[in-house]
Amino acid sequence: MMRGYVFDLDGTIYLGEKAIEGAADTLHVLKQRGDKVIFLSNNPLYSRYDLQKKLAAFGIDAKFDEIYNSNYILSLYLKQKLEVDDKVWVLGEWPLFQELQNHSISITHNPMDADYVVISWDRDFTYVKLHQAFRAWEIGAEFIATNPDRTCPSDTGPLPDCGAIIGAIEGATGEAIQNIAGKPSSIAVNVIQQALDLPQASCYMVGDRLETDIAMANFHRWNSILVLTGVTSEELAYSHTIKPDYVLNSVEELLSI
Ligand SMILES: [Mg+2]
Repeated sequence: MMRGYVFDLDGTIYLGEKAIEGAADTLHVLKQRGDKVIFLSNNPLYSRYDLQKKLAAFGIDAKFDEIYNSNYILSLYLKQKLEVDDKVWVLGEWPLFQELQNHSISITHNPMDADYVVISWDRDFTYVKLHQAFRAWEIGAEFIATNPDRTCPSDTGPLPDCGAIIGAIEGATGEAIQNIAGKPSSIAVNVIQQALDLPQASCYMVGDRLETDIAMANFHRWNSILVLTGVTSEELAYSHTIKPDYVLNSVEELLSI
């Protein structure tokens, strides 16, 4: 019976510029035996093309259409929602702008002209940008964010991610941002389920974060597999209210289940 595997990237396949040991071999075996493989990253700092190159450098041969990230899922979703003249103002980095442009979404540089404000991880986040997003909200623009992750694991320790910027904006408006494209949203689930085209019981989500990877899999009745190579400690893995079906030290142990 064919299985579908959805792999998170940061903290699961690699940490910063270092591959997780055994990741390439494991993926090779899965593909050899005919299972479907999808890569799903919430990280908005890289294009799908960048991710493909990064995986290739680690010896992982991924097809372009096997690679999904939050920028891509957000763009697919927004493209469907936008009316003809709608414009978006973007708080994010270049790969996000590029992905929106790939989907022919109109980007405005004037927040007062925006129908939607797209919020993402932005390493040049400033008070001016916070104020601009707030002004757009005041005149009725809708927020949509790429991903809810508070931090992103790296080889030098966790980095504040899109969730930190969402927090700053929510602090100003007093309203929670509901529309978030990446894991664990139903927006992401629908896109990936369609791509896998397999019964939910044959789908496996492999990731390092309980609130995104594991929550999404559990909610959607995929098998959930937590790996301890990223943001989640063994202690947290067994004490958290979100319970994975399996806990592995690393993706290297995946073939044992
Ligand atoms: Mg991760």
